Amino acid sequence: MRMEAATMKTSEFRVWWAGLFRLSRGQREELEEALGHAASQSPLAWLESAHGSDASCPRCAAPKPYRWGHQARMQRYRCRQCGHTFTLLSGTPLARLRHKERWLTYSQALVDGLTVRAAARLCRVHKNTSFRWRHRFLQRPAATKAEHLQGIAEADETYFPYSCKGQRHLARPPRHRGHAIHARGTGPDQVPVLILRDRSGATADFKLTAANTANIEPPLRAVLAADAILCSDGASVYRAAAQHLHLTHRPINLSAGVRVIAGVYHVQNVNAYDSRLKGWMHRFHGVATKYLENYLGWRRWLERWGSHNSPKIGLYAALGWERRFQLLTQT
Ligand SMILES: [Zn+2]
Repeated sequence: MRMEAATMKTSEFRVWWAGLFRLSRGQREELEEALGHAASQSPLAWLESAHGSDASCPRCAAPKPYRWGHQARMQRYRCRQCGHTFTLLSGTPLARLRHKERWLTYSQALVDGLTVRAAARLCRVHKNTSFRWRHRFLQRPAATKAEHLQGIAEADETYFPYSCKGQRHLARPPRHRGHAIHARGTGPDQVPVLILRDRSGATADFKLTAANTANIEPPLRAVLAADAILCSDGASVYRAAAQHLHLTHRPINLSAGVRVIAGVYHVQNVNAYDSRLKGWMHRFHGVATKYLENYLGWRRWLERWGSHNSPKIGLYAALGWERRFQLLTQT
């Protein structure tokens, strides 16, 4: 729809406006659709004007594609090298989602940590759509975590109740509300998550199958610098893992009342992170274990940006573009 005619005069507009109240349901829907189209230009127009010139082939990475018509109201490109056609969204988790005009509003809902239902109301989409969008938007944030921790790195494991929430075919009988689960950190009903955080705030977390040395060692090896100093509580799993990896280890004997060694070795940052995570997760009333990493990534993303977060940054994060456009400096 192009509007190149002269702007409507005020008197004309009044006549037109008066007609609004006599629209049939079908006419009203037609009008809403047209206005939706106009509004929908905004987030995508912004993305395309900011990044159209960076477009590169998702298949062979060749730069500077030809412009090749349009697809779903987006610029389509054709690769000079392999002939593949694509848009800026091709290959991203958002590629085939509809109602693009509402994405920034949805992104705001993620910044605000809204529940599925509250986000659905805000964006005027069905709650199933809201649920699907949530996990599409969180796919890349779930995969974006610190890859290198340096200096003093604090480690802590935390536990989430195992949950099949939302799954139709339960592998075990449903648990009834109020029924006590096993003690913290024990039994098959608890899913351990290892959280690693260094003093620059770089954070990585790992959903584990068990909080034992065999499971804790690989993440430590993957992200800790060889000369990092590992701080943890006195649990033997950390001692064993640090020994295998030849890492300097400062265990803090919390049960003996020790909190800080030599003024700098402690686990207070990672513990504070953990309690912010748990406090924030509370609103979701337990999350399906299958999606737990999406929530961990959501929280890391919120922590990364803090008060600088915005719906636009949320969209970058959802598209997996935080690194590509060097928005991230440390993680
Ligand atoms: Zn190509």
